[in-house]
Amino acid sequence: MAVTDLKKMLTDARDGGYAVGAFNVENMEFVQAVVRAADEERAPVIIQTSVNTLRYAAPEMFFAMVSAAAAETTVPVAIHLDHGETREDILACVRGGYRSVMFDGSLLPYAENVRMTRRIAEVCGPLGVTVEGELGAIAGKKNAPAHSRLLYTNPDTAADFVRQTGVDALAVAIGTAHGIYKDTPQLDYERLDDIRRAVDTPLVLHGASGLTDEQVRECVRRGIAKVNIATELRIAWTETIRAAQKEAPGVFDPKKAAGRARDAVCGIVREKIRVLGSAGKA
Ligand SMILES: [Zn+2]
Repeated sequence: MAVTDLKKMLTDARDGGYAVGAFNVENMEFVQAVVRAADEERAPVIIQTSVNTLRYAAPEMFFAMVSAAAAETTVPVAIHLDHGETREDILACVRGGYRSVMFDGSLLPYAENVRMTRRIAEVCGPLGVTVEGELGAIAGKKNAPAHSRLLYTNPDTAADFVRQTGVDALAVAIGTAHGIYKDTPQLDYERLDDIRRAVDTPLVLHGASGLTDEQVRECVRRGIAKVNIATELRIAWTETIRAAQKEAPGVFDPKKAAGRARDAVCGIVREKIRVLGSAGKA
């Protein structure tokens, strides 16, 4: 199947009471692992790349890899830019073939976040490119202030933000953080309910690595339609490569360790897909 439209994927998830996993990939093996997991679970899936990853290999490269992998399965596969911070980030991906992007203006003053996100949506809309915005700051990003309740998404502001910007998906801050948690975080479920009531747009949960499966399920029950997963995949990859090299220091075929790491990433993606309820939804 060709690379698919993310907007329909997310509205189907919202209406169907499940969430689509959005998995950050780093290289070809990650792409293969995610698509294989989705194929085996018969799940729609989103493959996304960060701006940093796109400095390592261009959007054209990732788009070509994802297209090739998607062509080998019948499940829908979308490709998305995670945390674009500038208009240039967004346009580079659109030129490279991406049909979905995130513009993250969450650290800007509110009026500026609205203005910038609306401009991005105005450019992307006519091109058929889906736009995810973010309101309230999810901790753990570079430059982000330390975790604070003041940064949580306000439901009334969320409604205003969606109305003014026309985004297709909205990332919300309800207590998750990027990266690795020291303790299991406390999530503000009531706030999520209030946002869900105020906003019809599919909602996105960032920083899901390290939440318990029950926490993730609860967020999905309460209306999250897209869940981003990055850190757990990177850890699985790196730990597997490390272990393989330690076990067989004399092996110089990169495919040996990378193949095992690819299997490890695939296994985690399959587990996540089941937790999100998207297995069998393709
Ligand atoms: Zn994020």
